[in-house]
Amino acid sequence: MQSIRLGLFLLASASALPALSQEKVLNLYSARHYQTDEALYANFTRQTGIKINRIEGKEDELLERIKNEGANSPADVFITVDAARLAQADALGLFAPVKSRTLEERIPDNLRSHDWFAFSTRARVIIYNKASINPADVQNYEDLSSPKLKGKVCVRSGAHPYNLSLGSALIHHLGEQKTEDWARGLVANFARAPKGGDTDQIKAVAAGECGVAISNSYYIARLLRSDKEADKKAMEKVGVIWPNQKSFGTHINVSGGGMLKTAPHKEAAVKFLEYLAGDEAQAYFANGNNEWPAVKSVNAKNPALESLGSFKSDGLNVGTLSKNTALAQKVFDRAGWR
Ligand code: FE
Repeated sequence: MQSIRLGLFLLASASALPALSQEKVLNLYSARHYQTDEALYANFTRQTGIKINRIEGKEDELLERIKNEGANSPADVFITVDAARLAQADALGLFAPVKSRTLEERIPDNLRSHDWFAFSTRARVIIYNKASINPADVQNYEDLSSPKLKGKVCVRSGAHPYNLSLGSALIHHLGEQKTEDWARGLVANFARAPKGGDTDQIKAVAAGECGVAISNSYYIARLLRSDKEADKKAMEKVGVIWPNQKSFGTHINVSGGGMLKTAPHKEAAVKFLEYLAGDEAQAYFANGNNEWPAVKSVNAKNPALESLGSFKSDGLNVGTLSKNTALAQKVFDRAGWR
């Protein structure tokens, strides 16, 4: 079929021949959709002549699609958020190992596995209502299960990957039993049943419906950068804590991607991954969602993030987070964190 189509094409348009033989493309399946990414991809095409065909969708849908397409999948690179999802793609055997000195030199050890790479990081932090909570009482994730906070905690579903990755890190640091005790205490402190996303929790803390919540850092930066008067007012009412500064550090998660085993354009795929680790792309990639660049020497110049200050992050390899994700789900289920 392929050769027939090609034959017809050659007959139909000889002038298109050079374009065909030189056609360089990359098929990108992306679960990231930010406006600044347009410039990021256009710049890659300008530098390399490789055109990017982008398929956007939700993480799970894209994974499902790649699985179903199997050996015939046109996907070259898959980009998504959350280490647990990257690890899920890995566990399904979808990624191919990538050997690249550029990537190994630029992406820190704890932010990559043997076949996928993180390109930006986000932290899971504690938000508190300045009027009703003493920040000294909420310095650690563990503090959120203290009876002191009865009726004050708001958090999204325990089934969400962000919380499962946090649970996975806690199991690593505290053990399964202590993590379950913690989750039980957390549930006992709920101000309301889990609902909504992280932004909803921040707004509920600002409104005084809850005293404290857990949120990813980029939702905070996004609200800090908002032009809306209501958002500005809300952010004046809340404080941000980097949890566990005196112990294992604040839990971090990532956006990242890898080359697919079935990638038809492997050379272009590696080039693209290396491009994402470059200085300019790093700043763009991170700023697109108010995250920090994975490459340490790159400054994203994001005033909202900078206003939050610096912190000690958990050095746990994000690739190992997935090891305990399924267990974290069981632990949260037992504790009643729906
Ligand atoms: Fe998110």
